[in-house]
Amino acid sequence: MSWLTEFVRPKIRTLLGRKDVPENLWHQCPSCQQMIFQRDLEANLKVCMHCGHHMRASARERLAWTFDDGAYTLIDTPRVPQDPLRFRDGKRYSDRLKEAREKTKLDEAILVAHGQLGGHKVVIAAMDYAFMGGSMGAAVGEGIVAAARLAVLQKAPLIIYVTSGGARMQEGAISLMQMPRTVIATQIVKEAGLPLLAVLTDNTFGGVTASFAMLGDIQIGEPGAIIGFTGPRVIEQTVREKLPEGFQRSEYLFEHGILDMIVVRAEMRATLIRLVDMLVPPSAVEPPAPPAITTDLVTA
Ligand SMILES: [Zn+2]
Repeated sequence: MSWLTEFVRPKIRTLLGRKDVPENLWHQCPSCQQMIFQRDLEANLKVCMHCGHHMRASARERLAWTFDDGAYTLIDTPRVPQDPLRFRDGKRYSDRLKEAREKTKLDEAILVAHGQLGGHKVVIAAMDYAFMGGSMGAAVGEGIVAAARLAVLQKAPLIIYVTSGGARMQEGAISLMQMPRTVIATQIVKEAGLPLLAVLTDNTFGGVTASFAMLGDIQIGEPGAIIGFTGPRVIEQTVREKLPEGFQRSEYLFEHGILDMIVVRAEMRATLIRLVDMLVPPSAVEPPAPPAITTDLVTA
């Protein structure tokens, strides 16, 4: 018996242990419930190959999928006070921030980068839903302002990938102040005669919908993205009416003139290139690249 328990059993355990399948190898599509091999899903830009469902993508993925050769330069967005209200609900806000940073390896819910798109210089700001639901606090507001300033400095179009649950409640009124600030950011881009393209992805809600997210020269939506100000349940309870089928989906907003186009992810980069080609005046293409932009210039 001792040979069986002391030698054979541990041996079997190690053999079985080695064959353990990593949990993240397969992904279940939330729309059609099909199991998809994670690597295939990533190769397909996180779009289900069975039903075409567009899954959420990270800010880094958005940047890599959009820029030429996936090459870009991130800028440091201005530092903001951490937890200015010393807010605490179920957990301390500072702890929530720490967790989000560990989980996403991001500093905040936005990345701002510059690089080339179809040979044009562009600035892209990409939000990340995985970081506290993409909520907009002071840091995200600063990110949008920095992106707008960088676009003006580089005379480059600004593209914003939006995804957000709304204002970051842990920052109270400070998060609400980001709404007028980001609106002004879109204005400085427009006053410089530069195109602003807003790509609304699943999901776009609250404070961002009520500010910069709806102010693009061209409003693009990803298929099936839920875009609105308040969730359908709250609206139903308020107006006491059943909402129409597909309410707040890209397709519904497109039919009602809120979005200009719906673009599948596989065609997003080509579409953005086409739009930038059309919107950037030829004179803006010819001059040599401006000197490298440092963060100091952006934050000044
Ligand atoms: Zn599917």
